[in-house]
Amino acid sequence: MKDITPVNGQFAMPTLPYEALGEVISKETLSFHHGKHLKAYVDNLNKMLPGSGLEGLTLAEVVCKAEGGLFNNAGQVLNHTLYFGQFSNTPKPMSTRLTAMIEKAFGSIEAFKKEFEQKGVTLFGSGWVWLSADKDGNLVITQQRNAENPITDGLTPLLTFDVWEHAYYLDYQNRRADHLAALWQFVDWQVVEGRL
Ligand code: MN
Repeated sequence: MKDITPVNGQFAMPTLPYEALGEVISKETLSFHHGKHLKAYVDNLNKMLPGSGLEGLTLAEVVCKAEGGLFNNAGQVLNHTLYFGQFSNTPKPMSTRLTAMIEKAFGSIEAFKKEFEQKGVTLFGSGWVWLSADKDGNLVITQQRNAENPITDGLTPLLTFDVWEHAYYLDYQNRRADHLAALWQFVDWQVVEGRL
């Protein structure tokens, strides 16, 4: 995973490389999700860093060392950076290498997607479902609450679906399962594999 370094003590707002993803993530959803929710996390992180003792560290380092509100805001900046950065309207397909890794861990691509969606659907409340790699390159799916990221458990995060209601409610209301199932068509697997 490519880490993020602050400039003059401040983390920059991650850029959004698309205006919408079909009807699965609308422009209106992105105006709130990226423009308001993520903006607030970035602003809060930058306000809370001075005096925390974690100034100058990379974003991943802050997430691994911070607690309380600083952890929540830093975690959400990292999580959303990975989330928004992994989608594309012209996504690259899965390589034979990543296909083999997923098949080894989950049996098949379809079984992997089914388990990933199921873990997203059954996560109670707000959080994230993640595909990560351990230090030996084995792939795992985890559910993480609120602002958590598998990086704090020593894992390398590769892919994530946001299951906070703010991620899908304007487009899908309560139909979280339908939203998650529709996201796969926009996943850029070259970006995902590049985080290994
Ligand atoms: Mn979100």
